[in-house]
Amino acid sequence: MLQSTTNDFYFAAVGDVHGQMQNMVKLLSKWESRLGIKLAFVLQVGDFEPHRHEADLSTMSAPTKYKKLGDFPDYYSEKKFFPWPIYFIGGNHEPYGFLEQFPKGQKIINNCYYLGRVSSNIIKGLNVVGLSGIYQKDKFHSLRPHFLEIYTKSNKEYIYFNEDDIAQAIDYKNADILLLHDCPSEIVNPSIIAEIIGFSIKYGDEIGNEFARMLVDLLLPKVVLCGHIHYKHYTHIVTSDNRKIEIYCLADINKGDAAIELFRVTPDGEIQKVLVD
Ligand SMILES: [Zn+2]
Repeated sequence: MLQSTTNDFYFAAVGDVHGQMQNMVKLLSKWESRLGIKLAFVLQVGDFEPHRHEADLSTMSAPTKYKKLGDFPDYYSEKKFFPWPIYFIGGNHEPYGFLEQFPKGQKIINNCYYLGRVSSNIIKGLNVVGLSGIYQKDKFHSLRPHFLEIYTKSNKEYIYFNEDDIAQAIDYKNADILLLHDCPSEIVNPSIIAEIIGFSIKYGDEIGNEFARMLVDLLLPKVVLCGHIHYKHYTHIVTSDNRKIEIYCLADINKGDAAIELFRVTPDGEIQKVLVD
């Protein structure tokens, strides 16, 4: 069992869930009991896939073979419950016909909160800034269509962040945690990029984007959490004033323990990684 003072608390970060809610709950519950801790909340980096039903699924951008309903309907119908508050951003595979109704975020069921397109949220005293979507050069300067148009437009129109989202995110100050789906650029050593791309779904020959990186450099969060590449990777940046920014890319839920990180928050607001492997 871990030693903790009464004012410490713990939270978990989870990679792409792709609708497998029960697997996420099982994995986190296993580590809760193994370490003898109780999680205060869970942060999820997008591609959560909270489809309530087939109609939601039809508004997700993905090849047909990846369009699976998952087990969120059991949670939506209250047959099952999330044991902790889950806060998630949107990835590139989401039921945007459902989520895009709430660009500023919304509690979608008990203990489950969508953080919207871009938002700043105080969660147990930590400022969590979230940015949904991925970067696409030719969509960056365009507006997203209204959510009601999703049945006449391509689902793809809804999966990107744009310059307005980035401008809004830059305005958020004092971020403790930056929650991203698409990774910041220049965080992966070029020697392993080929390995990641071979291992993961093919996303072109680059990892990350310059606008996510700009947010890291301007917001100076203590911790950055991202997903999308389905690969566990850690690095850190030391700023010119000697601040350390820890960057965690999380694997997808199918990879078990590689999909999670656990953190302890000390009474003075320090965020420490708890070793789980
Ligand atoms: Zn994914």
